[in-house]
Amino acid sequence: INKSFLIYNVTLIKGDGIGEEISDAVVKIYEAAKVPVDWEPVDVTPSLINGVTTIPKPAVDSINKNKIALKGPLATPIGKGHQSMNLTLRRTFGLFANVRPCKSVVGYKTPYDNVNTVLIRENTEGEYSGIEHIIVPGVVQSIKLITKKASERVIRYAFEHAKSTGRHEVVVVHKASIMKLSDGLFVQCAKEIAKDYPDIKVSFELIDNTSLRLASDPTTYSKVVMVMPNLYGDILSDLSSGLIGGLGLTPSGNMGEKVCIFEAVHGSAPDIAGKGLANPTALLLSSCMMLRHMSLNEYADRIEAAVLKTIASGPEHRTGDLRGTASTSSFTDSIISNL
Ligand code: ATP
Ligand code: MG
Repeated sequence: INKSFLIYNVTLIKGDGIGEEISDAVVKIYEAAKVPVDWEPVDVTPSLINGVTTIPKPAVDSINKNKIALKGPLATPIGKGHQSMNLTLRRTFGLFANVRPCKSVVGYKTPYDNVNTVLIRENTEGEYSGIEHIIVPGVVQSIKLITKKASERVIRYAFEHAKSTGRHEVVVVHKASIMKLSDGLFVQCAKEIAKDYPDIKVSFELIDNTSLRLASDPTTYSKVVMVMPNLYGDILSDLSSGLIGGLGLTPSGNMGEKVCIFEAVHGSAPDIAGKGLANPTALLLSSCMMLRHMSLNEYADRIEAAVLKTIASGPEHRTGDLRGTASTSSFTDSIISNL
């Protein structure tokens, strides 16, 4: 097949808050770079069906058909008994692994140079199972659910990811010293799965140690893949973001058996929504992860080079979160001129 004749359909969820602005930036840059992608925008405003937050059928059908979506941040409707929209999407499409790379941007100085971490977060259970009860007023219980099935799935994904990206070690982050059964099961699963990957080293690290080591010298994680239960992944990925310049820069991919949804790590940032201040880099880099997943590497490399060059070219070309003065649209235009 001659790839230059293929056009790929991708579902686009623009999202809430700054979602519209940063999605429009990505669409504009793709047009300029002549990326062979046809966007299928869908509305995911949820409805409550029997108390379960449900995504409109046309959106679900589009994602199931295209197998790939790019998603802006979604806010969860307040006060109507809705579950988190992000959790709903992960549940609807079985997106079990959340891949979150963090790479220093050369030309944007932070206290650390050469950060190059890859964190894989279990995406379906743990502290996010949403099982909480009031036992008596003043006493609540929250259940952290860990299953062999979900743990094995995400850990195997981490080993495969290490293998395919040339990282020689998987670091399993946990707190089994305290949560002996739940995190203990996660660790046990990793020990079993590791036997299938004799060429990849496996090590185990307590989450508090990982936090200390990440903040002291993140470069010690440059050649490894970290994998961990849900909440730890949430926290350590924001920590990792902070090492390279903040949430405006960090991409992610939600990976399932059949469907993958790529999105920025950050939320809808209502404080700056609609003001032309948002940094579209995180969503743009998420879309580059998506292009590589689709084997459109040349386009990904070109767009990534243009955005990094723009950020490195001085504060007048950067958005406010990166101590710059550019607006979302002038930043977008600079990226296009650097393509
Ligand atoms: P949500 O409730 O949807 O998670 P939030 O208020 O937690 O939204 P986040 O998007 O998670 O907001 O990020 C926290 C802060 O970081 C925002 O308030 C915003 O100031 C800043 N921020 C996040 N993303 C960006 C971005 N892409 N560009 C600029 N600033 C950002
Ligand atoms: Mg948030």
